[in-house]
Amino acid sequence: MSTQSIDTIIIGGGLSGMYAAYLLSKKNVSFVVLEARERVGGRILSLEDHGFFSDLGPSWYWPEMNPKMMHLIQTFGLKGYRQFEEGMGRFEGPNGVVRTVRGYSTAPASWRLFGGMTTLMTKLLEHIPKAAVKFNSPVCEIEKKYNSALISVGELEKEPKAQFSARKVILALPPRLVAASILFTPDLSTDLTQAMLRMGTWMAGQAKFYALYEEPYWRQMGLSGQAFSQRGPLGEIHDGSNKDQRPYGLTGFINIPATQRMREHFLSKAILFQLAAIYGKPAAQPLRFFYQDWAQEKFTATQFDQPPMREHPVYQPPAGQTSIWDGIVHFAGSETADLHGGYLEGALVSAERAVKML
Ligand SMILES: Cc1cc2nc3c(=O)[nH]c(=O)nc-3n(C[C@H](O)[C@H](O)[C@H](O)COP(=O)(O)OP(=O)(O)OC[C@H]3O[C@@H](n4cnc5c(N)ncnc54)[C@H](O)[C@@H]3O)c2cc1C
Repeated sequence: MSTQSIDTIIIGGGLSGMYAAYLLSKKNVSFVVLEARERVGGRILSLEDHGFFSDLGPSWYWPEMNPKMMHLIQTFGLKGYRQFEEGMGRFEGPNGVVRTVRGYSTAPASWRLFGGMTTLMTKLLEHIPKAAVKFNSPVCEIEKKYNSALISVGELEKEPKAQFSARKVILALPPRLVAASILFTPDLSTDLTQAMLRMGTWMAGQAKFYALYEEPYWRQMGLSGQAFSQRGPLGEIHDGSNKDQRPYGLTGFINIPATQRMREHFLSKAILFQLAAIYGKPAAQPLRFFYQDWAQEKFTATQFDQPPMREHPVYQPPAGQTSIWDGIVHFAGSETADLHGGYLEGALVSAERAVKML
């Protein structure tokens, strides 16, 4: 098999990898993005129905706290709108009794993107050469060869599907996933590998739903769509509507640990039952229903991500290292950012750092 030589290989076509590609496309260097899935975006996933995109991964950005997101959104001429939060909230106790409670506004304010978060990925794709992104290309091995790296795509112990030689490599995926699924030769140090495994991938164990409706009947009842439940299966619900027009939507997170979740069919029924208990009968009959269990996604979650993460970790480059092998391989990916780690903003922060250090 022939080995293709490239200046820079970016592993992972999530926001971090694709932003690194966008930055590199402004420089005179050759680069390729190797993406394991058949799509870009990684944890960004917005499914379309009648022109509306339901975010099953991230849906919020915070203009007051996310300068790099804001810059990118403005550069691409994208528009956002505030998360709908007007009205009262609902609270469901452990025994299923539902109360109306005071609603609250998030501070700083959360915003959604018109076209869903995936519109950022569409724009990034438009700005880099088409042939630069190789889909269905999971990297399984990286070998140091003098001053460069040999990267194998495919499955370990099998003939590689493709090989690339690169002067520089950007690892634009969660460090835990890197440690669990890519073989390095020579071995990475135990300290570094442990630090990578310990660094939980933000939201990787989560599951999210989206239900779309013709009418925002909860708003008509004076409710904001925001609800919290101690009973489940949903723990947290929010209004996920289009801005002031149909479709209107409810969205939120499942509060059952990944290993205890029932099959999608049963869980979906339980979710609709709970929505009806909280918002009334019409909630059980959405026009469209989406469900995404991130814990089952092998290019996002590992076995270590199955138990629920209770707190937002303090992220930083693993073992304090932003690169290895004398600067041949650089860490990116939101979980390696020392600012806004785990969030979309952190994906941009880490990509910028990696590209600057090449
Ligand atoms: C349900 C949910 C809700 C969220 N809500 C928010 C929110 O509201 N606001 C916010 O700021 N953040 C939120 N986040 C976090 C946000 O999604 C992430 O911070 C961001 O998308 C991370 O981007 P990334 O490029 O660093 O990583 P990823 O998106 O994980 O991208 C990594 C890429 O690497 C690819 N890959 C994996 N293994 C390999 C391999 N071996 N070879 C090649 N490619 C590989 C993957 O397919 C993927 O495309 C949420 C996440 C989830 C799951």
